[in-house]
Parts: sequence; C-alpha cells; structure tokens
Amino acid sequence: MAILIMDSLRRRVTLLWLFLYFLTLIISIHWLWQYSYQQLQITNQQQLDRFSRHIDSQLGHFSFIPQLLSRQGIIINALMASDNSAQLDLTNRHLNTINKIVGASDTYLLDKDGTTIAASNWTKKSTFIGNNFSFRPYYQDAIQGAPGRYFALGSTSGKRGYYFSYPVNYAAETIGVVVIKMNLSLLEKDWAGKEQSFLVTDLNNVVFISSEIKWLYHSLTPLSEQQKNDLRDTRRYLERQIDYIPISGNLNTNAALLTLDNKKWLPTYYLSLIKAFDDEQWNVRVLAPITPILFDILLLFLLITLLYMLLYLTLILIKQKQTRHQEQVLAEIKSKQKLEFTVMQRTSALQAEVEERHKAEAALRSTQKELIQSAKLAVLGQLSASISHELNNPLSAIRTYAENAVLFLDRDKLDQVSNNLSRITHLTERMAKISSQLKSFARKSNGELKIIALQPVILAAHELLKPQLKANKTELTMQLPTQSIYVKAEPIQLEQIVVNLLSNALQSMQHSDHKLIKIELIIESDIAKIKVLDQGTGIDQAHLPHLFEPFFTTKETGLGLGLSISQQIINNMQGTLTAKNRVTSGAEFCISLPVNKNNMSANNN
Ligand code: ADP
Repeated sequence: MAILIMDSLRRRVTLLWLFLYFLTLIISIHWLWQYSYQQLQITNQQQLDRFSRHIDSQLGHFSFIPQLLSRQGIIINALMASDNSAQLDLTNRHLNTINKIVGASDTYLLDKDGTTIAASNWTKKSTFIGNNFSFRPYYQDAIQGAPGRYFALGSTSGKRGYYFSYPVNYAAETIGVVVIKMNLSLLEKDWAGKEQSFLVTDLNNVVFISSEIKWLYHSLTPLSEQQKNDLRDTRRYLERQIDYIPISGNLNTNAALLTLDNKKWLPTYYLSLIKAFDDEQWNVRVLAPITPILFDILLLFLLITLLYMLLYLTLILIKQKQTRHQEQVLAEIKSKQKLEFTVMQRTSALQAEVEERHKAEAALRSTQKELIQSAKLAVLGQLSASISHELNNPLSAIRTYAENAVLFLDRDKLDQVSNNLSRITHLTERMAKISSQLKSFARKSNGELKIIALQPVILAAHELLKPQLKANKTELTMQLPTQSIYVKAEPIQLEQIVVNLLSNALQSMQHSDHKLIKIELIIESDIAKIKVLDQGTGIDQAHLPHLFEPFFTTKETGLGLGLSISQQIINNMQGTLTAKNRVTSGAEFCISLPVNKNNMSANNN
C-alpha cells in the first residue's frame, strides 16, 4: 500500500517537474525571442537609416552638378556651335576637369537629339562622343525640360551608373542635355563584409546595389512579361538575364520575417527592414539574419534543460541521502531497542541473581552464626566435665565450711565461724566468676570490630580454660609483652578462637607425657601474632591441606568446624590463621592480625 502511494507521489512529482520545465522553457524562450527580435530590429533600423543617409548624401553630391553646368556659357556655346571643334575640345577639357573634381564616373553633353557632343572621357577609346542616348529615360525627361534621374548599366562601359541629367536652355528653348554619371560601386564599398546584408531594389524588385555581390541583378519577386519587356526597352540592365532569388515573406512590410530557400538543409531567416527612397523609385533594404537569435534560443534551451537536469539529480541525491539517513536512524533505533531489551533482560536476571545471593548470604550468615554457636557449645561440652569438677569442688568445700561453721557456732567459736564464712564467700565469688566466664563465652557476638588490646583476650581465654588445664594436668606458659598490643577485632570472637586453639592443643596432648602449652604474643613487621604451641601428636602431613575445611575432623566426636569458622572470623578481621608442625613435636597455630599503630603510639606515650 505504502509503495503504491509512494509510486503515485513520485509520478506526480515527476509530472510537476516536467510541467515546470516546459513552462520555464516556453516563458524564457518567448521572452528571449521577443527581446532579441526587438533588439535586432532597433539595431538594424539604425543601420538602415545610416545606409539611407549614406546613399542620400552620396547622391546629393551629384544632383546639383548638371544644373550648374547647364548654366555655364561654355556648355551653351558648345551646343550652339557643335561643329566648332575648338569649342568642343574646350568643352571636353572642361567636362573632364569638373568630372575629376566631383569624383563622378562620366560627365557629358548631349545635343537636342540625344547624341553626345562633348564628354569627360573624350580621350578614351570607349568615349561617349558620337553615341546617341535618346533611348534613356534621363534624356527623355530632361529634353522635356525636367531634371532626370536614372539608374542603368552603362551601355558603353557596362558599369552600374546613376545618371543625373538637366536640360540646357537657351532663349526659352531646350538645346541640349547635360548628364553626370555616378559610379554606384562607391555606395557598396563601405557596407561590404557586415553581418547584415544591404540591398537596393528598383520598382521591379531587381537588386542593383547590394553588399552581397551574388544578389546583384537578381529580382526578389519573379518578373512578369511586361516587366521584362520594359527592362528590354530601357536597356537598364542591357542584355543581362535577371534571375529570381527564392525569398518568401511579405516584402513590402517593414520588419517582416523573410525566408531564403538557399537549397541548404535549413533555410535562412532574415529580419527585413525597408525604406522607400528617391521618390519611391527605390527600396533600400537591410536583411539581418536571425540565426544568432536561434542559436541563443538553442543555448538557452540547453541551459534550462541542463539546469533542470542538475536540479533533478540534486533532488534525487538529497532524497536518496535522506532515505539512507532514515534507514540508518531506524537501524540505530532498532539496535538500541534490542540492546535496551537485552540490558533489561540481563538486569532483571542480575537482580534475581542478586536477590538470590542476598538470600543465600543471609542464610549463610545465620547458618554461620548457628555453626559458631554450635562450635562454642561443642567446646563448652568439652569443657563441661572440668567445669563441673571446678564447680563441685568449691561446692563441697562450701558445704564442709558451712557444716563446720554450724559446729563452731554451737561451741561459740565465733572467730572460726567468721573465718569459715569468709572462705565460703571467697569460694562463691570464684564460682560466680567461672559462671560469668562461661556465660560470656556462650553469648552471641554482634560481629562489630573495634580496637582492642590483645593481652586481656588471651588472659580471659586462659582463665576459661584453667579448670580443664588443671584437670588434664597441663602446664600453660604465656609470653606476653608488658606493652599492650592493639588490633581491630571483635573480642568475644577472638577469645572464642583462642579458647578453641587451646582446647585443640589440650586434646592433642591427651596421651603426652609432658603436657605443656605455650602462648606467645609477638609483633613482626606490624603484624601481631598469637602463637599457640603444644607438644601433642602434631598434624598428619596428609591432613594439613584439609585442616581448615568445614567438617574436617579426626576426632570421633569432633564436629570439624572449629578451625574453619575460626579462619573465616580471622579473615573478616583482615588477618590470617595458619597451622604447621613444630620442629620438635606438636603443632603450632598462629593468629596474625595487623597492629593498630595509632593506639600503639598513644599507649607508648
Ligand atoms: P574438631 O576439633 O571438632 O575436630 P577442629 O576444626 O577444631 O574440629 O579441628 C579439626 C582437626 O584438626 C582436628 O580433628 C584435628 O585432627 C586437627 N587438629 C586441630 N588442632 C590440632 C592440634 N593442636 N594438634 C593436632 N591436630 C589438631
């Protein structure tokens, strides 16, 4: 569905694009055509005006000469005495001089029959003298008394000439005609080689002046039979064949578009500007090719097409880039979502794991506490025999002292009574002390570490073990420094560990001859070390790696928890518990704890 919508949208955009493209083409080409055509018209109108002025001024030079000459006595005299060779010779020279001064082609004098009696070219072979020009319209006009103007090819020279004639009057009678001929090639000279073509046509549309030589003596319209006959009679173009230039369009309108079929693959188009001249006898015309405009239009067409293509390509590129970017963003979002989902999954799994772990840790802690308690109770169990012995002895002593006291009271031996009572008090105090030590040992620790001195802990443990040592006939020596050694520990737990170690030592020496336990407290490299050394069985080499494993025991009634729990507790205090065999006999257990220096120095001071 989305693809279909996209396709129709793309089609619509393409159509809109094409519409814009053609609209731009039409508007801009139309504007360029209008503008360029107008410009061409303005420029060529100026050229036409200049060309017309140029012809006008050139012709103007000559138009008055015949009239001036007709008044001169030498001319009249020549006509009056046309058989006077001296007079004619004089006239010939005069005409030659005038001809040279005004720059005319020929200047000559006709008698009233139209025969040349004097001429500027009198010395030349092709002189007009003796030639009769009565057939020329310029003679016919002048002999009628009017000034004549005429264009024709010279019948003698064959050159194009423009003839100005004027009647020579004497005593109210026209006695001859004076003629000056102007060379028309002079008019073309300055206008050749220009972009535009200049041409002058006669009433029959025959070109007789042109910047394009090839168009000379050609007609712009096909000549009718009548026109051909007239031309033959006046011999304007002598015997020349007048061909037709295949040019179509409205020839008589100014600013018309003419088409020249010059038999090439494309016809040539001209902008034609026209101006009537010489009393409508001539048409001066400028033909400006419009090919440059067509080339400009072609260039504009190419430019616009190129521009639209470039814009279209750029748009496509931008669109593609956008699509790619969108795809990239989409892919990024997808992978991010995937990652987030994975992270969420992992987090929830981790949370479950953490919760599980917390539960396990809590269970472990409570188990540990239970185990410690069990281990303590086990130690207490071991101690119970000696403790009960330790309590029974004072009890029986108390009973004896009490019985004796009663007897002493009967005999009024009050001193003895007092003595016995004080002994009873002393014994009860001792029993209370034992009971308090047991109570303290049995109580649960809160596990909180604090700075404590080690000596009191060792002494308390010793105190607790005293009855058992006594019962086992075991000697205990202590090497404690007088200076207090401080460590960070939990005192109850530490005491329990020392008791445990002493208890194990005692048990290992059950069958020894010499039962001696040593407790040493030393400092080595800022580490406080409590060493418990015995002279017992020592540790089997095979057992050493497993000693601190939970439930490892070699005793029939042992739990195998004492050492493993002790090691864990010491580790929590940032210390270590190690075991080894002594060199002589027996085992050595060592509690190592970092010394608390602050308190040491405070103590020292
Ligand atoms: P239990 O005393 O319940 O066996 P312990 O963890 O305290 O548990 O001791 C583990 C084992 O380590 C003992 O069974 C014993 O084999 C050995 N052991 C402990 N202390 C000594 C010692 N001082 N001399 C020799 N062996 C010892």
